[in-house]
Amino acid sequence: MNEQIEKRFTDLTALVKTYNKFDVLKLTKTWEFAKIAHEEQKRKSGELFVLHPLEVAIILAQWKLDESTVLAGLLHDTIDDGAAKRDDLVNEFGQDIANLVDGVTKVSDYKLRGNKEVESIENLRKLILVMARDLRVVFVKIADRLHNMRTLEYLPIDKQKRVARETLNIYAPLAERLGMGEINGELNDLAFRYLYPTDYDKVEAKSKLVYKEAERQIRKMRSVILTHLSKENIKPTVIGREKRLYSLWKKLQREEINWDYSKIHDIVALRIIVDKPEECYLALGLVHKHYKPVPYLGISDYIAQPKPNGYQSIHTKVFGPGGRITEVQIRTHTMHKQAEFGAASHISYNEMKSKGVSDEFLETQGTSTKQINKLSWVKELVKWQKELTDSETYIEALKFDALMHRIFVFSPQGDVYDLPANSTPVDFAYAVHSDLGKYIKSIKVNGKIASLSHKLSNGDVVEITKTKNPQKPNKDWERFVKTIKARNKIRKELAKK
Ligand code: MN
Repeated sequence: MNEQIEKRFTDLTALVKTYNKFDVLKLTKTWEFAKIAHEEQKRKSGELFVLHPLEVAIILAQWKLDESTVLAGLLHDTIDDGAAKRDDLVNEFGQDIANLVDGVTKVSDYKLRGNKEVESIENLRKLILVMARDLRVVFVKIADRLHNMRTLEYLPIDKQKRVARETLNIYAPLAERLGMGEINGELNDLAFRYLYPTDYDKVEAKSKLVYKEAERQIRKMRSVILTHLSKENIKPTVIGREKRLYSLWKKLQREEINWDYSKIHDIVALRIIVDKPEECYLALGLVHKHYKPVPYLGISDYIAQPKPNGYQSIHTKVFGPGGRITEVQIRTHTMHKQAEFGAASHISYNEMKSKGVSDEFLETQGTSTKQINKLSWVKELVKWQKELTDSETYIEALKFDALMHRIFVFSPQGDVYDLPANSTPVDFAYAVHSDLGKYIKSIKVNGKIASLSHKLSNGDVVEITKTKNPQKPNKDWERFVKTIKARNKIRKELAKK
Protein backbone atom coordinates (compact mmCIF):
# COMPACT_ATOMS: atom_id res chain seq x y z
CA MET A 1 0.00 0.00 0.00
CA ASN A 2 2.88 2.39 0.79
CA GLU A 3 4.19 1.96 -2.69
CA GLN A 4 0.83 2.99 -4.12
CA ILE A 5 0.77 6.11 -1.99
CA GLU A 6 4.29 7.08 -3.01
CA LYS A 7 3.26 6.66 -6.61
CA ARG A 8 0.39 9.03 -6.01
CA PHE A 9 2.85 11.54 -4.56
CA THR A 10 4.84 11.29 -7.80
CA ASP A 11 1.62 12.26 -9.59
CA LEU A 12 1.46 15.41 -7.46
CA THR A 13 5.09 16.29 -8.21
CA ALA A 14 4.46 15.87 -11.93
CA LEU A 15 1.26 17.92 -11.75
CA VAL A 16 2.74 20.98 -10.03
CA LYS A 17 5.54 21.10 -12.59
CA THR A 18 3.01 21.64 -15.37
CA TYR A 19 2.01 25.12 -14.19
CA ASN A 20 4.44 26.54 -11.67
CA LYS A 21 8.02 26.54 -10.52
CA PHE A 22 7.62 24.50 -7.39
CA ASP A 23 10.43 23.86 -4.95
CA VAL A 24 10.36 20.05 -5.23
CA LEU A 25 12.63 19.62 -2.21
CA LYS A 26 10.21 21.60 -0.09
CA LEU A 27 7.29 19.62 -1.45
CA THR A 28 9.04 16.34 -0.56
CA LYS A 29 9.94 17.64 2.89
CA THR A 30 6.30 18.60 3.49
CA TRP A 31 5.18 15.18 2.37
CA GLU A 32 7.60 13.51 4.80
CA PHE A 33 6.35 15.78 7.57
CA ALA A 34 2.71 14.88 6.86
CA LYS A 35 3.50 11.17 6.91
CA ILE A 36 5.21 11.45 10.29
CA ALA A 37 2.38 13.58 11.72
CA HIS A 38 -0.25 11.04 10.69
CA GLU A 39 1.89 7.98 11.32
CA GLU A 40 -0.13 4.79 11.06
CA GLN A 41 -3.47 6.58 11.34
CA LYS A 42 -6.12 4.92 9.16
CA ARG A 43 -9.25 6.19 7.45
CA LYS A 44 -12.56 4.35 7.73
CA SER A 45 -11.83 2.87 4.30
CA GLY A 46 -8.83 1.09 5.77
CA GLU A 47 -6.40 3.24 3.80
CA LEU A 48 -3.61 5.17 5.46
CA PHE A 49 -4.94 8.56 6.58
CA VAL A 50 -2.16 10.48 4.86
CA LEU A 51 -3.64 9.55 1.50
CA HIS A 52 -6.44 12.03 2.26
CA PRO A 53 -4.26 15.18 2.57
CA LEU A 54 -2.31 13.97 -0.46
CA GLU A 55 -5.49 13.80 -2.55
CA VAL A 56 -6.51 17.24 -1.26
CA ALA A 57 -3.14 18.65 -2.37
CA ILE A 58 -3.65 17.06 -5.79
CA ILE A 59 -7.07 18.70 -6.13
CA LEU A 60 -5.54 22.08 -5.23
CA ALA A 61 -2.81 21.52 -7.81
CA GLN A 62 -5.48 20.69 -10.40
CA TRP A 63 -6.90 24.14 -9.68
CA LYS A 64 -3.38 25.46 -10.31
CA LEU A 65 -3.10 27.10 -6.91
CA ASP A 66 0.12 28.50 -5.52
CA GLU A 67 2.81 26.56 -3.69
CA SER A 68 1.77 27.59 -0.18
CA THR A 69 -1.81 26.46 -0.78
CA VAL A 70 -0.78 23.06 -2.14
CA LEU A 71 1.59 22.52 0.79
CA ALA A 72 -1.13 23.66 3.20
CA GLY A 73 -3.33 20.99 1.60
CA LEU A 74 -0.77 18.34 2.52
CA LEU A 75 -0.63 19.69 6.06
CA HIS A 76 -4.27 20.66 6.61
CA ASP A 77 -5.09 17.89 9.12
CA THR A 78 -1.72 17.68 10.87
CA ILE A 79 -2.89 19.82 13.82
CA ASP A 80 -6.45 18.55 14.17
CA ASP A 81 -5.99 14.89 13.40
CA GLY A 82 -2.22 14.52 13.49
CA ALA A 83 0.50 15.04 16.04
CA ALA A 84 1.77 18.46 14.94
CA LYS A 85 1.60 21.81 16.73
CA ARG A 86 1.22 25.22 15.17
CA ASP A 87 4.74 26.13 16.29
CA ASP A 88 6.16 23.12 14.46
CA LEU A 89 4.55 24.38 11.27
CA VAL A 90 5.91 27.91 11.74
CA ASN A 91 9.42 26.57 12.32
CA GLU A 92 9.36 24.08 9.49
CA PHE A 93 7.39 25.91 6.82
CA GLY A 94 7.12 29.58 7.77
CA GLN A 95 4.31 31.91 8.73
CA ASP A 96 2.36 31.88 5.47
CA ILE A 97 1.77 28.13 5.41
CA ALA A 98 1.21 27.93 9.17
CA ASN A 99 -1.47 30.64 8.88
CA LEU A 100 -3.23 28.75 6.11
CA VAL A 101 -3.27 25.47 8.05
CA ASP A 102 -4.37 27.33 11.15
CA GLY A 103 -7.22 28.96 9.21
CA VAL A 104 -8.41 25.59 7.92
CA THR A 105 -8.22 24.11 11.41
CA LYS A 106 -10.23 27.02 12.82
CA VAL A 107 -12.97 26.66 10.22
CA SER A 108 -13.22 22.98 11.11
CA ASP A 109 -13.51 23.84 14.80
CA TYR A 110 -16.48 26.12 14.24
CA LYS A 111 -19.21 23.69 15.11
CA LEU A 112 -22.01 24.69 17.38
CA ARG A 113 -23.70 21.77 18.96
CA GLY A 114 -27.45 21.49 18.75
CA ASN A 115 -29.66 22.43 15.86
CA LYS A 116 -28.03 21.50 12.58
CA GLU A 117 -29.31 24.38 10.47
CA VAL A 118 -28.26 26.92 13.04
CA GLU A 119 -24.92 25.22 13.17
CA SER A 120 -24.45 25.55 9.43
CA ILE A 121 -25.36 29.20 9.37
CA GLU A 122 -23.10 30.06 12.26
CA ASN A 123 -20.33 28.15 10.51
CA LEU A 124 -21.02 30.18 7.44
CA ARG A 125 -20.61 33.46 9.31
CA LYS A 126 -17.22 32.36 10.60
CA LEU A 127 -16.29 31.07 7.19
CA ILE A 128 -16.97 34.46 5.65
CA LEU A 129 -14.77 36.14 8.24
CA VAL A 130 -11.92 33.73 7.53
CA MET A 131 -12.44 34.12 3.80
CA ALA A 132 -12.09 37.85 3.95
CA ARG A 133 -8.66 37.32 5.45
CA ASP A 134 -7.38 34.75 3.00
CA LEU A 135 -9.42 33.15 0.25
CA ARG A 136 -6.86 30.36 -0.07
CA VAL A 137 -8.08 28.89 3.24
CA VAL A 138 -11.45 28.42 1.60
CA PHE A 139 -9.96 26.63 -1.39
CA VAL A 140 -8.24 24.15 0.94
CA LYS A 141 -11.54 23.71 2.79
CA ILE A 142 -13.48 23.11 -0.43
CA ALA A 143 -10.86 20.64 -1.72
CA ASP A 144 -10.98 18.88 1.67
CA ARG A 145 -14.76 18.61 1.44
CA LEU A 146 -14.62 17.44 -2.17
CA HIS A 147 -12.32 14.54 -1.28
CA ASN A 148 -14.37 13.66 1.80
CA MET A 149 -17.51 13.58 -0.35
CA ARG A 150 -15.80 11.39 -2.95
CA THR A 151 -14.97 8.88 -0.21
CA LEU A 152 -18.16 9.22 1.82
CA GLU A 153 -19.30 5.65 1.24
CA TYR A 154 -17.09 4.38 4.06
CA LEU A 155 -18.82 6.38 6.76
CA PRO A 156 -21.86 5.25 8.76
CA ILE A 157 -25.16 6.31 7.20
CA ASP A 158 -26.12 8.98 9.73
CA LYS A 159 -22.76 10.66 9.30
CA GLN A 160 -23.07 10.43 5.52
CA LYS A 161 -26.36 12.31 5.73
CA ARG A 162 -24.99 14.99 8.03
CA VAL A 163 -21.92 15.65 5.88
CA ALA A 164 -23.98 15.56 2.67
CA ARG A 165 -26.52 18.02 4.10
CA GLU A 166 -23.79 20.44 5.13
CA THR A 167 -22.25 20.12 1.69
CA LEU A 168 -25.55 20.93 0.01
CA ASN A 169 -26.25 23.86 2.37
CA ILE A 170 -22.83 25.43 2.61
CA TYR A 171 -19.99 24.11 0.48
CA ALA A 172 -21.73 23.63 -2.86
CA PRO A 173 -23.36 27.10 -2.83
CA LEU A 174 -20.07 28.54 -1.63
CA ALA A 175 -18.26 27.04 -4.62
CA GLU A 176 -21.05 28.40 -6.80
CA ARG A 177 -20.64 31.91 -5.41
CA LEU A 178 -16.91 31.69 -6.00
CA GLY A 179 -17.69 30.87 -9.63
CA MET A 180 -16.34 27.31 -9.38
CA GLY A 181 -19.01 25.73 -11.56
CA GLU A 182 -17.46 22.31 -11.98
CA ILE A 183 -16.81 21.88 -8.28
CA ASN A 184 -20.26 23.13 -7.35
CA GLY A 185 -21.74 20.59 -9.76
CA GLU A 186 -19.77 17.67 -8.40
CA LEU A 187 -20.47 18.55 -4.76
CA ASN A 188 -24.20 18.85 -5.46
CA ASP A 189 -24.35 15.51 -7.26
CA LEU A 190 -22.42 13.70 -4.53
CA ALA A 191 -24.64 15.16 -1.81
CA PHE A 192 -27.78 14.39 -3.82
CA ARG A 193 -26.79 10.73 -4.02
CA TYR A 194 -26.49 10.36 -0.24
CA LEU A 195 -29.44 12.52 0.78
CA TYR A 196 -32.06 11.34 -1.71
CA PRO A 197 -30.86 7.92 -2.91
CA THR A 198 -34.23 6.84 -4.37
CA ASP A 199 -34.65 9.98 -6.47
CA TYR A 200 -31.01 9.87 -7.43
CA ASP A 201 -31.32 6.37 -8.87
CA LYS A 202 -34.53 7.26 -10.65
CA VAL A 203 -33.15 10.41 -12.30
CA GLU A 204 -29.87 8.72 -13.17
CA ALA A 205 -31.51 5.78 -14.92
CA LYS A 206 -33.94 7.89 -16.91
CA SER A 207 -31.42 10.58 -17.79
CA LYS A 208 -29.10 8.03 -19.40
CA LEU A 209 -31.73 7.35 -22.06
CA VAL A 210 -32.55 11.01 -22.51
CA TYR A 211 -28.88 11.98 -22.78
CA LYS A 212 -28.37 9.41 -25.51
CA GLU A 213 -31.20 10.77 -27.59
CA ALA A 214 -30.20 14.38 -27.08
CA GLU A 215 -26.65 13.61 -28.07
CA ARG A 216 -27.71 12.40 -31.49
CA GLN A 217 -29.25 15.83 -32.00
CA ILE A 218 -26.13 17.58 -30.75
CA ARG A 219 -23.92 15.59 -33.11
CA LYS A 220 -25.91 16.78 -36.11
CA MET A 221 -25.75 20.40 -35.04
CA ARG A 222 -22.09 20.12 -34.22
CA SER A 223 -21.01 19.19 -37.73
CA VAL A 224 -23.11 22.00 -39.26
CA ILE A 225 -21.58 24.57 -36.93
CA LEU A 226 -18.02 23.32 -37.39
CA THR A 227 -18.32 23.53 -41.16
CA HIS A 228 -19.65 27.07 -41.16
CA LEU A 229 -17.28 28.44 -38.55
CA SER A 230 -14.26 26.98 -40.31
CA LYS A 231 -15.26 28.98 -43.40
CA GLU A 232 -14.75 32.06 -41.21
CA ASN A 233 -11.35 30.72 -40.16
CA ILE A 234 -12.55 29.98 -36.65
CA LYS A 235 -11.55 26.64 -35.17
CA PRO A 236 -13.83 26.13 -32.22
CA THR A 237 -14.12 23.28 -29.79
CA VAL A 238 -17.72 22.08 -29.95
CA ILE A 239 -18.92 19.69 -27.28
CA GLY A 240 -22.14 18.46 -25.74
CA ARG A 241 -22.57 19.30 -22.06
CA GLU A 242 -24.84 16.99 -20.08
CA LYS A 243 -26.87 18.63 -17.38
CA ARG A 244 -25.82 17.59 -13.89
CA LEU A 245 -28.18 15.21 -12.11
CA TYR A 246 -28.87 17.46 -9.14
CA SER A 247 -29.75 20.46 -11.25
CA LEU A 248 -31.81 18.23 -13.54
CA TRP A 249 -33.69 16.90 -10.49
CA LYS A 250 -34.36 20.43 -9.20
CA LYS A 251 -35.73 21.46 -12.59
CA LEU A 252 -37.91 18.35 -12.93
CA GLN A 253 -39.66 19.31 -9.72
CA ARG A 254 -40.69 22.75 -10.98
CA GLU A 255 -44.40 23.12 -11.37
CA GLU A 256 -44.32 23.95 -15.10
CA ILE A 257 -42.04 20.94 -15.80
CA ASN A 258 -43.65 18.40 -13.48
CA TRP A 259 -41.22 15.59 -14.31
CA ASP A 260 -41.67 15.95 -18.07
CA TYR A 261 -38.16 15.48 -19.45
CA SER A 262 -39.14 16.80 -22.87
CA LYS A 263 -39.76 20.24 -21.37
CA ILE A 264 -36.13 20.62 -20.32
CA HIS A 265 -34.21 22.16 -23.22
CA ASP A 266 -30.72 22.18 -21.81
CA ILE A 267 -30.57 18.51 -20.80
CA VAL A 268 -27.65 18.36 -23.19
CA ALA A 269 -26.46 21.78 -24.25
CA LEU A 270 -24.23 22.46 -27.21
CA ARG A 271 -21.13 24.28 -26.08
CA ILE A 272 -19.00 26.26 -28.53
CA ILE A 273 -15.60 27.33 -27.25
CA VAL A 274 -13.59 29.85 -29.29
CA ASP A 275 -10.42 31.91 -28.84
CA LYS A 276 -11.63 35.51 -28.75
CA PRO A 277 -14.75 37.28 -27.41
CA GLU A 278 -15.58 38.77 -30.83
CA GLU A 279 -15.67 35.22 -32.24
CA CYS A 280 -18.42 34.43 -29.72
CA TYR A 281 -20.71 36.94 -31.40
CA LEU A 282 -19.77 35.71 -34.84
CA ALA A 283 -20.59 32.17 -33.72
CA LEU A 284 -23.89 33.39 -32.26
CA GLY A 285 -24.82 34.94 -35.59
CA LEU A 286 -23.99 31.74 -37.43
CA VAL A 287 -25.96 29.58 -35.01
CA HIS A 288 -29.01 31.81 -35.44
CA LYS A 289 -28.63 31.78 -39.21
CA HIS A 290 -28.98 28.00 -39.27
CA TYR A 291 -31.16 27.40 -36.24
CA LYS A 292 -33.81 30.00 -35.47
CA PRO A 293 -33.80 31.32 -31.92
CA VAL A 294 -36.87 30.50 -29.83
CA PRO A 295 -38.48 33.93 -29.45
CA TYR A 296 -40.04 33.64 -26.03
CA LEU A 297 -37.02 31.99 -24.41
CA GLY A 298 -34.55 34.64 -25.41
CA ILE A 299 -30.79 35.12 -25.36
CA SER A 300 -28.72 35.78 -22.25
CA ASP A 301 -25.51 37.64 -22.91
CA TYR A 302 -23.39 37.03 -19.82
CA ILE A 303 -20.33 38.24 -21.72
CA ALA A 304 -21.64 41.79 -21.88
CA GLN A 305 -23.17 41.37 -18.43
CA PRO A 306 -21.31 38.74 -16.39
CA LYS A 307 -23.06 37.07 -13.47
CA PRO A 308 -22.03 38.40 -10.04
CA ASN A 309 -19.71 35.41 -9.55
CA GLY A 310 -17.85 36.33 -12.74
CA TYR A 311 -19.50 33.73 -15.03
CA GLN A 312 -19.31 34.68 -18.70
CA SER A 313 -20.98 32.99 -21.67
CA ILE A 314 -23.73 33.59 -24.22
CA HIS A 315 -26.76 31.33 -23.82
CA THR A 316 -29.35 31.00 -26.53
CA LYS A 317 -32.15 28.54 -27.15
CA VAL A 318 -32.74 27.52 -30.75
CA PHE A 319 -34.95 25.19 -32.76
CA GLY A 320 -32.60 22.34 -33.66
CA PRO A 321 -33.15 19.58 -36.22
CA GLY A 322 -36.72 18.29 -36.10
CA GLY A 323 -37.82 21.43 -34.25
CA ARG A 324 -36.37 20.25 -30.97
CA ILE A 325 -35.38 23.11 -28.72
CA THR A 326 -31.71 23.02 -27.79
CA GLU A 327 -29.60 25.33 -25.65
CA VAL A 328 -26.36 26.63 -27.15
CA GLN A 329 -23.64 28.12 -24.94
CA ILE A 330 -20.85 30.16 -26.47
CA ARG A 331 -17.68 31.26 -24.66
CA THR A 332 -13.92 31.66 -25.01
CA HIS A 333 -11.38 29.22 -23.57
CA THR A 334 -10.53 31.78 -20.90
CA MET A 335 -14.18 32.10 -19.89
CA HIS A 336 -14.43 28.33 -19.86
CA LYS A 337 -11.54 28.00 -17.38
CA GLN A 338 -13.07 30.75 -15.27
CA ALA A 339 -16.39 28.89 -15.23
CA GLU A 340 -14.65 25.78 -13.95
CA PHE A 341 -12.30 27.19 -11.36
CA GLY A 342 -13.78 30.63 -10.71
CA ALA A 343 -11.99 32.70 -8.12
CA ALA A 344 -9.23 30.07 -7.96
CA SER A 345 -8.10 31.06 -11.45
CA HIS A 346 -7.66 34.68 -10.32
CA ILE A 347 -5.56 33.65 -7.35
CA SER A 348 -3.26 31.47 -9.41
CA TYR A 349 -2.97 34.22 -11.97
CA ASN A 350 -1.87 36.85 -9.47
CA GLU A 351 0.53 34.53 -7.78
CA MET A 352 2.16 33.41 -10.99
CA LYS A 353 2.32 36.96 -12.17
CA SER A 354 4.17 37.99 -9.01
CA LYS A 355 6.66 35.24 -9.78
CA GLY A 356 7.31 36.76 -13.16
CA VAL A 357 5.42 34.34 -15.39
CA SER A 358 4.67 36.05 -18.70
CA ASP A 359 1.22 37.25 -19.72
CA GLU A 360 1.37 35.21 -22.91
CA PHE A 361 1.94 32.04 -20.95
CA LEU A 362 -0.94 32.86 -18.62
CA GLU A 363 -3.24 33.58 -21.55
CA THR A 364 -2.45 30.21 -23.08
CA GLN A 365 -3.23 28.66 -19.72
CA GLY A 366 -6.61 30.32 -19.83
CA THR A 367 -6.19 32.44 -16.72
CA SER A 368 -7.90 35.76 -16.69
CA THR A 369 -6.06 39.05 -16.59
CA LYS A 370 -8.73 40.58 -14.41
CA GLN A 371 -7.51 41.63 -11.02
CA ILE A 372 -9.44 40.10 -8.21
CA ASN A 373 -11.55 42.62 -6.39
CA LYS A 374 -11.62 41.44 -2.82
CA LEU A 375 -14.32 43.79 -1.61
CA SER A 376 -16.78 42.84 -4.32
CA TRP A 377 -16.57 39.09 -3.87
CA VAL A 378 -16.70 39.22 -0.09
CA LYS A 379 -19.74 41.50 -0.40
CA GLU A 380 -21.25 38.97 -2.74
CA LEU A 381 -20.77 36.27 -0.12
CA VAL A 382 -22.36 38.41 2.54
CA LYS A 383 -25.39 38.91 0.32
CA TRP A 384 -25.60 35.16 -0.06
CA GLN A 385 -25.38 34.64 3.69
CA LYS A 386 -28.32 37.02 4.08
CA GLU A 387 -30.39 35.23 1.45
CA LEU A 388 -29.66 31.96 3.14
CA THR A 389 -30.63 33.10 6.61
CA ASP A 390 -33.73 34.86 5.29
CA SER A 391 -34.94 31.73 3.56
CA GLU A 392 -34.61 29.61 6.66
CA THR A 393 -37.81 30.91 8.12
CA TYR A 394 -37.98 28.46 10.91
CA ILE A 395 -34.70 29.66 12.26
CA GLU A 396 -36.48 32.86 13.13
CA ALA A 397 -38.94 30.81 15.08
CA LEU A 398 -36.02 29.57 17.07
CA LYS A 399 -35.25 33.16 17.99
CA PHE A 400 -31.56 32.56 17.85
CA ASP A 401 -30.90 36.20 18.66
CA ALA A 402 -27.16 36.22 18.91
CA LEU A 403 -26.98 34.76 15.44
CA MET A 404 -29.61 36.67 13.56
CA HIS A 405 -28.93 40.12 14.90
CA ARG A 406 -25.45 40.59 13.66
CA ILE A 407 -24.13 42.39 10.60
CA PHE A 408 -21.04 42.28 8.42
CA VAL A 409 -19.34 45.63 7.83
CA PHE A 410 -16.35 46.28 5.59
CA SER A 411 -13.23 48.38 5.55
CA PRO A 412 -12.47 49.98 2.17
CA GLN A 413 -9.83 47.24 1.69
CA GLY A 414 -12.49 44.53 1.94
CA ASP A 415 -11.70 43.33 5.46
CA VAL A 416 -14.90 42.26 7.09
CA TYR A 417 -16.00 42.84 10.68
CA ASP A 418 -18.78 40.99 12.46
CA LEU A 419 -20.76 43.46 14.63
CA PRO A 420 -24.07 43.45 16.54
CA ALA A 421 -27.00 45.00 14.66
CA ASN A 422 -27.37 48.79 15.09
CA SER A 423 -23.64 49.20 15.58
CA THR A 424 -22.21 52.60 14.68
CA PRO A 425 -19.02 53.78 12.96
CA VAL A 426 -17.54 54.24 16.44
CA ASP A 427 -18.10 50.53 17.18
CA PHE A 428 -16.48 49.79 13.86
CA ALA A 429 -13.43 51.93 14.72
CA TYR A 430 -12.87 50.09 17.99
CA ALA A 431 -13.35 46.74 16.27
CA VAL A 432 -10.63 47.59 13.75
CA HIS A 433 -8.18 48.69 16.43
CA SER A 434 -8.60 49.48 20.12
CA ASP A 435 -6.84 52.84 19.65
CA LEU A 436 -8.48 53.95 16.43
CA GLY A 437 -11.32 55.61 18.36
CA LYS A 438 -8.92 58.32 19.49
CA TYR A 439 -8.19 59.38 15.94
CA ILE A 440 -11.64 59.67 14.36
CA LYS A 441 -11.90 62.84 12.31
CA SER A 442 -14.77 62.03 9.98
CA ILE A 443 -16.69 59.03 8.71
CA LYS A 444 -17.86 57.91 5.32
CA VAL A 445 -20.37 55.10 4.88
CA ASN A 446 -20.55 53.73 1.33
CA GLY A 447 -18.68 56.79 0.14
CA LYS A 448 -21.00 59.36 1.78
CA ILE A 449 -20.27 61.46 4.88
CA ALA A 450 -22.13 60.01 7.86
CA SER A 451 -22.54 60.86 11.52
CA LEU A 452 -20.70 58.96 14.23
CA SER A 453 -23.98 57.59 15.58
CA HIS A 454 -25.15 56.39 12.15
CA LYS A 455 -26.72 52.92 12.36
CA LEU A 456 -24.73 50.58 10.11
CA SER A 457 -26.35 47.93 7.90
CA ASN A 458 -25.16 44.61 6.57
CA GLY A 459 -22.64 45.11 3.78
CA ASP A 460 -21.80 48.77 4.53
CA VAL A 461 -18.30 49.97 3.70
CA VAL A 462 -17.00 52.25 6.45
CA GLU A 463 -14.10 54.61 5.92
CA ILE A 464 -12.49 56.53 8.76
CA THR A 465 -10.48 59.69 8.18
CA LYS A 466 -7.95 60.06 10.97
CA THR A 467 -6.80 63.11 12.93
CA LYS A 468 -3.07 63.71 13.33
CA ASN A 469 -3.08 63.66 17.11
CA PRO A 470 -5.05 61.51 19.53
CA GLN A 471 -8.05 63.11 21.23
CA LYS A 472 -10.42 62.20 24.03
CA PRO A 473 -13.61 60.36 23.04
CA ASN A 474 -16.84 62.33 23.22
CA LYS A 475 -19.10 61.64 26.25
CA ASP A 476 -22.06 61.04 23.91
CA TRP A 477 -20.38 58.06 22.33
CA GLU A 478 -20.95 55.96 25.39
CA ARG A 479 -24.67 56.39 24.86
CA PHE A 480 -24.92 55.11 21.31
CA VAL A 481 -22.23 52.46 20.95
CA LYS A 482 -23.42 48.85 20.86
CA THR A 483 -20.29 46.80 21.47
CA ILE A 484 -18.93 46.14 24.93
CA LYS A 485 -15.42 46.58 23.60
CA ALA A 486 -16.11 50.14 22.44
CA ARG A 487 -18.00 51.10 25.61
CA ASN A 488 -15.27 49.85 27.94
CA LYS A 489 -12.54 51.58 26.00
CA ILE A 490 -14.45 54.88 25.92
CA ARG A 491 -15.09 54.73 29.66
CA LYS A 492 -11.44 54.08 30.35
CA GLU A 493 -10.35 56.99 28.19
CA LEU A 494 -12.89 59.38 29.75
CA ALA A 495 -11.79 58.43 33.28
CA LYS A 496 -8.19 59.36 32.47
CA LYS A 497 -7.08 62.76 33.65
MN1 MN B 1 -9.31 16.81 5.91
